[in-house]
Amino acid sequence: MIPWGRTGGQRQGLRPFPLAAGDGFGSIDAMQYRGKRVTVMGLGHFGGGSAAARWLAQRGARVTVTDRADERTLAGPLAGLAGVPIEAFHLGGHRKDDFRDADLVVVNPAVRPGDPWLDAAKSAGVPLTTEIGLLLDELAGPTIGVTGSNGKSTTAAMTAQLLRHAGRRAWLGGNLGGSLLGQIENIRADDWVVLELSSFQLAHLPSHTPMPRIAVVTNCTPNHLDWHGDWRSYVAAKQRILKNPSPASRVVLGRGLDSADGWHRLAGDRRIELPRDGNVGLVGIDGNHNRENAVCAFAAAVAAGCDRAELRDALASFTGLPGRMEYLKTVAGRRLFNDTTSTTPESTIAAIEVLGGEAWLLVGGGDKGVDFGKLIDAIALSVRGVAFYGEVGPRLHARLGQRSPGFAASCHATMAEALSWCFQRSRPGESIVLSPACTSHDQFRNFVDRGEKFVELVSSLAARTLSPGKS
Ligand code: ADP
Repeated sequence: MIPWGRTGGQRQGLRPFPLAAGDGFGSIDAMQYRGKRVTVMGLGHFGGGSAAARWLAQRGARVTVTDRADERTLAGPLAGLAGVPIEAFHLGGHRKDDFRDADLVVVNPAVRPGDPWLDAAKSAGVPLTTEIGLLLDELAGPTIGVTGSNGKSTTAAMTAQLLRHAGRRAWLGGNLGGSLLGQIENIRADDWVVLELSSFQLAHLPSHTPMPRIAVVTNCTPNHLDWHGDWRSYVAAKQRILKNPSPASRVVLGRGLDSADGWHRLAGDRRIELPRDGNVGLVGIDGNHNRENAVCAFAAAVAAGCDRAELRDALASFTGLPGRMEYLKTVAGRRLFNDTTSTTPESTIAAIEVLGGEAWLLVGGGDKGVDFGKLIDAIALSVRGVAFYGEVGPRLHARLGQRSPGFAASCHATMAEALSWCFQRSRPGESIVLSPACTSHDQFRNFVDRGEKFVELVSSLAARTLSPGKS
């Protein structure tokens, strides 16, 4: 339940929603939200904002959607809200009243702590939540939350696959695959819901939100320090997932977690032992990192009551998710991979470990305040060559140049130029991998957009290579 910080919400003189017969809007138990003034801040492009706005409007809330971006930029998500009775759209900027005079503000998880609009809401006593907060409030059945600096999506998807293999009904959502709010009516009380939870989502959760029954933490290395401010705040956000007071809750901690950061102490005897590697059986995707993900997923499924023997080899058919070391095609003997979801040095190191010495890498993008020392070492020791690009490109290029003068490296303004350079330098039998290790926001809308642009570049490279007469 939302602890409504304010009473009222029945501002006088406003029309009720135009509820059309048969649109389903009238049939839902809307008691908690009916008539409440809810501001959805940040529509975004991943579906969470629109899903929250739609879901709240269906429950009779008087929803205002506000976003810094304008109508043109948000055309896609706005089209998804066509026909939904939203009371007001305040786009291209925010208005103080939408924060001060609301009964609830639903925050896009990307909004930074200390944001002045959120501070305005807080100082007016308006409660804040997120799309995930609304969902967790609503779910009555068992939940598994997966967080970590790397491997969240993969581990969450593996966990859902294991549960389904063992005959459970399992839903997969959170920070991947769109919002589950729209599915609430279809989720049965004994269904398992597996949620990937990012540090931003965890940091924004109100303290009253029920935490997942089983918490999985894959690993924790410095990430998003520009957003969280420092390492301690980042760890504290991640550790919120452990704050389920029920002794029946369970915790799965990945092998690499440092006990100095308090993970083991906070988990206490709720911690589930990890299976030995061999017990997991075959895993359908390469890499030690994916083996670690599988071990965590397996432990989570065991914690959910699944039979160990039955789970063995259940991940043999797991083919991996798009944009994670995803093989695209072979062009003139070079294998091309899309690893656009790599936004940390560790995930690009994982790519290097899988492809070894045959890889040419494209690395670069926006800065989020992490150290690239280990990545530079791994590049210098293991890959054939690297093309840096984007905002951090020149810095990384200079750093590699100092460490290993003469190493096959170059620096470019764009990803397209970086790809051309790798293609010209590489030889048949080698691989070319977009594994940026950085955010996409300097040049792309988000990592999905970056991946799509890379796939387009690879397609046109293939077309040019097949018909060299055309330019
Ligand atoms: P997340 O959801 O935490 O971003 P994903 O499963 O989407 O993680 O994978 C994102 C990137 O991280 C990909 O490049 C993938 O190859 C890499 N990766 C996945 N699991 C791990 C891990 N356990 N350690 C390091 N890198 C990983």
